[in-house]
Amino acid sequence: MTAPAVLTVRGKPVAEVLGSFGKAVPGSVHLSLAPSGGRWCSRSCPHLPANGGKCYAERTERFRIALGDRLAAFDAAGPEPVAARAFAESAIRGHRFPWARVSAFGGVPEDPADVPSLVRLVRAWLDAGTPVHFPAETQRKADRWTRAIGRPEFEVRESVADPRRFVRAVRHRLRGVFSTVAGDPGDSRPERLRKAREVAERARALGDRVIVCPAVASRILRGSAGSAKCGACRACSDRDIRGVVFPLH
Ligand code: SF4
Repeated sequence: MTAPAVLTVRGKPVAEVLGSFGKAVPGSVHLSLAPSGGRWCSRSCPHLPANGGKCYAERTERFRIALGDRLAAFDAAGPEPVAARAFAESAIRGHRFPWARVSAFGGVPEDPADVPSLVRLVRAWLDAGTPVHFPAETQRKADRWTRAIGRPEFEVRESVADPRRFVRAVRHRLRGVFSTVAGDPGDSRPERLRKAREVAERARALGDRVIVCPAVASRILRGSAGSAKCGACRACSDRDIRGVVFPLH
C-alpha cells in the first residue's frame, strides 16, 4: 500500500485532503486529485481549455486561488499518494458520510490500477452506506472505474457534454448512467431550465428515470443567485436514475 502523501501548500501542511463541497449537506466530503482541465481530463472533452472550451470548474479554480494552489499540490504529489491519504482520513471517521463526491474538480486517471487507494476508498464508502457521486467524462473511463470498483449497486456516472448524445445514450445504451448540461450561456435562466426539461423529456421517452437537477431548478424558480443545494436529493449517486440534466449554471 502507498504511504499517504505529506502535502504542503505555500509551505503550510494540508490538514485534510478530503474537502467539503458547497452543494452538499454539512459533513459531506469530496476528493479531487488534480486541477480541472489538467492531465487527467480527457482530451476529447469539448469544454477543455486546451481545446478552446470554457470549463467552468477551471475558471472557478483560477478565481479561488487557494483552491487552485491546493489542487496543484495534489497534482504534484500524484493521485495514488493523495488517495491513500484520503483513505486514511476517511477511515478515522468510519468511512461514513452523508454524501461523498469524487472529482468535484478535475478528473481521475484513465486506469484504476494507477490509483488502487481510490478504488479501495469508494468501496469502503459504499460498504459503510455512504452515497457516492463519481462522474467521469468518457464512456470508457466510466466503464473501467465501474468495473474496478465492482459493486453491483454502484456505477460511475458518465458526463455527456452534448445533450443530444445524452438523449441517445439514455435511450439506446443498455447500461450506464449519465448526466448532461442543457442551455447556452446567452440564455436566460428560465430558458436554461426549459431546455433542461425538454432534454429530460426526450431522454425519458422509453420510460427511463431521468430528472432535472432539483437543486439548480429550484434556485432558478426562486430567482435566487445563491448556491444550489442538494438537500435530501442523492440522484447523482443513484444507479436507478439513468439520467440527470443540469440547467447550465
Ligand atoms: S441531481 Fe440531486 S444529487 Fe445531483 S446535484 Fe442535483 S440535487 Fe444534488
